[in-house]
Amino acid sequence: MADQEIRDRAVDALTRLVRDVPDFPEPGVLFKDIAPLLADGPGFAAVVAALADLGRDDAGRPAVDKVVGMEARGFILAAPVAVALGVGFVPVRKAGKLPHDTHQVAYALEYGEAVLELHQDAFAPGERVLVIDDVLATGGTARATCELVRRCGAEPVAFAVLLELGFLSGREQLTDVPVTALTTT
Ligand code: AMP
Repeated sequence: MADQEIRDRAVDALTRLVRDVPDFPEPGVLFKDIAPLLADGPGFAAVVAALADLGRDDAGRPAVDKVVGMEARGFILAAPVAVALGVGFVPVRKAGKLPHDTHQVAYALEYGEAVLELHQDAFAPGERVLVIDDVLATGGTARATCELVRRCGAEPVAFAVLLELGFLSGREQLTDVPVTALTTT
């Protein structure tokens, strides 16, 4: 299948199967619920295929060594993308969940702070990493993850999401990593 057809199928699935939930988890937030998309076999496969394409070179070979996903919905997307590319998956987790030695990055939330962690030995030096999450909002999670990847000695070469909330300008947080959103609202 041509690249454009793969992308078109993913955009169609996202348009039909992502549900807007107003005022969740708090008043004023329009939550992008990907549960109906994940529950649809062809739809889930379409977005995984489109994300995996971003980790290939022009000849169709894997152009990355690892795929990183952020807890929790990033895991669901990044793991099958890693399998599709034939490379490893690495989880970025919230503080206190990873059992071995970690690096940590703290970042500001609207109220308070969050901490993300990566295992220090997650990558071989200089490995090329595709970072995947479901939604790009303010960009804080993505920026902290890319910083963590670098701290662990690897290079984030691409960041990809299903949905970008363009009005929050999150991609401005990622000036040094190419950002691809399959859809933008
Ligand atoms: P941010 O760090 O602000 O870019 O937020 C990104 C993270 O929060 C992602 O891991 C998303 O899963 C989640 N998120 C933020 N805003 C939304 C939203 N409106 N709908 C669904 N998930 C969201």
